[in-house]
Amino acid sequence: MTHTAEIISVGTELLLGNIINTDARDISVALSRIGINVFYHSVVGDNAQRVTEAVNLARTRADIIITTGGLGPTYDDLTKKSVAAAFGRKLVFHENEAEKIRAFFKDRLGHAEMTPNNLQQAYLPEGCVVFDNGCGTAPGCAIEADGIHALMLPGPPRECRAMLEASAIPYLEKLSDSAIFSHNIHIFGMGESSVEARLEEIMRSSENPTLAPYAKDSEVMLRVTAKAAARDEAEAMMDPIIARVRAELGDIIYGIDTGTLENTVVSLLRARGMTLAVAESCTGGLLSKRITDIPGASKVFLGGVIAYTDGAKTTLVGVPRGTIEKHGVVSPEVAEALAMHVRESLGADIALGITGVAGPGADEFGNPEGTVHIALASSDGVFRRSPPLFYDRTRIRVTAASHALDMARRYLDGLHV
Ligand code: ATP
Ligand code: MG
Repeated sequence: MTHTAEIISVGTELLLGNIINTDARDISVALSRIGINVFYHSVVGDNAQRVTEAVNLARTRADIIITTGGLGPTYDDLTKKSVAAAFGRKLVFHENEAEKIRAFFKDRLGHAEMTPNNLQQAYLPEGCVVFDNGCGTAPGCAIEADGIHALMLPGPPRECRAMLEASAIPYLEKLSDSAIFSHNIHIFGMGESSVEARLEEIMRSSENPTLAPYAKDSEVMLRVTAKAAARDEAEAMMDPIIARVRAELGDIIYGIDTGTLENTVVSLLRARGMTLAVAESCTGGLLSKRITDIPGASKVFLGGVIAYTDGAKTTLVGVPRGTIEKHGVVSPEVAEALAMHVRESLGADIALGITGVAGPGADEFGNPEGTVHIALASSDGVFRRSPPLFYDRTRIRVTAASHALDMARRYLDGLHV
């Protein structure tokens, strides 16, 4: 059976715009992972009648209702009361939970004084399943009536996420006799619409597993998702789809479940026992940052130079002044010189050089915004790439760094760079 969920976030400060509804986002992400459709997000202020109304409306269009917030000890924490009212339940005192709250104050808060209103958190709807709060005092809970489930989670994002993973997701997984398994196929070098056009037939004809594209920065990710009783069965269902996607897209697929280009590059370098150095101009350290985001990068990344001005390019990296004068600082020749010289001075197996115009607007020599030249220097010679980049400064810089990483991964994989 397919379940449909609605998330109701309770809190006047959400309506006032004082805080962003990150709880709803976190819950939506988790539900989509286990194959539960979320059709509505609602936000209600701290008002008992309106919360009850929102729950009553949600009951007409969802069989899973998840509330966030309003489980605490203060007068405006009225979620349990309001949800219980919509389900015709009373709140009853749970001595067990009261004991846990007393213990939290004693052990975790260093014998802090516990005001009596804290015990309000031990009142829970009769017949509920209690969700422990691993990082706070307010327990969450779930009640069920006529096949409709209401789950109540705390507002503070840390508590909400912890209870979601520890209690709510396992509770929801039990409602279904199948589970969701997925693989992410990572693509660089083709836009979302072209990827979709190439795979349209597979996407349209696949119901289980499904194949769906997600565009992020300059990349496309395809998610293959199968619903099955067990992982083996799901893998057997996903294998043929992945094989068809591979046949269609070939080596623009840079990995499956590898996360990011930088992850792939660091893994490949480690597998080959090779080292990398970089000299960056327009990316201003972004390429180095992305590589060093990966734990263990120090085994393969020797270092990088941010050579932003002509002076830095000549003094720090050793780009000949004549190369800059002859070809212009934004040129394939300067990218090449950046890569070659940094490779030599750090003694790296491969090195990347980037120079370009991130914008906004053209540079003083008339090179349009988005002109970027990248070079990879190796023992097999120097390779160049000059992709036209678009949109804005941030996107141009991110995409330039991605192209550099893509050149590295193609070289390391023995592909045409
Ligand atoms: P507490 O025990 O802290 O009172 P609670 O479950 O009663 O928790 P609220 O009182 O509604 O939750 O919210 C507590 C705090 O949690 C808010 O001030 C806010 O910072 C954060 N918060 C609440 N709801 C959300 C939400 N939907 N998204 C992100 N943060 C939230
Ligand atoms: Mg509160």
